[in-house]
Amino acid sequence: MKKKFYITTSIAYTNMLPHLGFALELIQADVLARYNRILGKDTFFLTGTDEHGKKVAEAAEKVGKAPAKFSSEIAARFKALTKTLNLSNNDFIRTTDKERHWPVVKKVWLGLKKKGDIYKKKYKGLYCVGCEAFITKKDLKEGRCVIHQKEPEKIEEENYFFRLSKYSKKIEKIIKKNEIRIIPESRKNEMLSFTKQGLQDVSFSRPKKGLKWGIPVPDDDSQTVYCWADALINYLSGAPGRWPADVQCIGKDIQKFHCLIWPGMLLSLGLQLPKIIFVHGFVTVENQKMSKSLGNVIDPFELVKKYGTDPVRYFLLREIPPTEDGDYTRQKFEGRYNSDLALGLGNLVARVITLAEKFKIQNPKPKINPGLKKEIEKSKEAWTKTLDEFKFNEALIAIWRLISFCDRYIEKEKPWKESEKQLSIINDLLFALENIAQILKPFLPDTSEKILRQLNSKKSKPLFPRI
Ligand SMILES: [Zn+2]
Repeated sequence: MKKKFYITTSIAYTNMLPHLGFALELIQADVLARYNRILGKDTFFLTGTDEHGKKVAEAAEKVGKAPAKFSSEIAARFKALTKTLNLSNNDFIRTTDKERHWPVVKKVWLGLKKKGDIYKKKYKGLYCVGCEAFITKKDLKEGRCVIHQKEPEKIEEENYFFRLSKYSKKIEKIIKKNEIRIIPESRKNEMLSFTKQGLQDVSFSRPKKGLKWGIPVPDDDSQTVYCWADALINYLSGAPGRWPADVQCIGKDIQKFHCLIWPGMLLSLGLQLPKIIFVHGFVTVENQKMSKSLGNVIDPFELVKKYGTDPVRYFLLREIPPTEDGDYTRQKFEGRYNSDLALGLGNLVARVITLAEKFKIQNPKPKINPGLKKEIEKSKEAWTKTLDEFKFNEALIAIWRLISFCDRYIEKEKPWKESEKQLSIINDLLFALENIAQILKPFLPDTSEKILRQLNSKKSKPLFPRI
């Protein structure tokens, strides 16, 4: 039986159009999905949209649209983005899906209630609409939410609560012992600093009069299910029979929900836990946070339109450290494009295919120069090792080391000059190219295919025209 591999991204909140930061998460998850398919695993890759909650309702109201219409339009853009980025996702779940998602939310709610983990309580607190969460004074700086730079609302109401405190000790142990492995280690420690203080119960509903845009609480129509409780359940509703997830990819801003509340819900339901939670950082623009008010939001559609899908994938995977913040600038992007893609990979492919075309070399034979062979093996080993550790940038560095080795091999052996070895050198290079195309596949799937096609047809066509 094939080993299964289930991977998820967080689902995008439909209060604003997609930006480059979320594209990073989608692409990272796509690399892992494609890699695990190459390893022969029965892979399922899920993404989607998180559409309920006050933030979406407010954004809709601002432009004078009904939340359902507004949210559908944005969800369509996120769905289009999966095509634009050439993602290999198996499905796309929307939390507004009344056939697939709502019944599972109802089932989960009733399951938590049956366990005695849902109760009603009067509550007074501060709510940040940006976070879609109650926050405490500790989360504030000069009276504003640290993440959203916004003053929270003072709220006094009767809500249903989830008894997260009951699972606090257990969650701590699970994280400590890597039963859920949080990558990177620094994020794991951050979560442990929360469990150390003891987790508090969390509000799991809001009165309907204040929030209509959401799923009604199953046996109390006067309340709406809290949008996070609703959203997390997509990992169950979007891929029936697939749970537990092997990897859940998320951003650092929504860690608490995934590493603390979500495991609490799963423990209450008696379901298995995700194996790995992989946390990426943010993409900044000229070292500033991307934000509407700064007007520096990078639109991934525009970037792909200008440079192509694979260059955008390459930049994000190579330039942004997988678990830290990384910076986008046009200069950095075009620098990477010209040096690594146009001059590096593109140039090597053009040189080798042109030679093969000229000397009519057929399919490469695997008997090649031992030095080059060793270099190929080294790259493949590094490829597996770094991908197993989610180090996308290091995997690409290993591939580009092989590309440079081939360049040096060409300079040294001068295969354009007539000699005894000439044909075997070209054969060596074709063999190396074939291997490069194979290990590029999870990162640059389209480019990989193009190289393999050129190897087959022996017709050279530029991959990355210089800009
Ligand atoms: Zn906030």
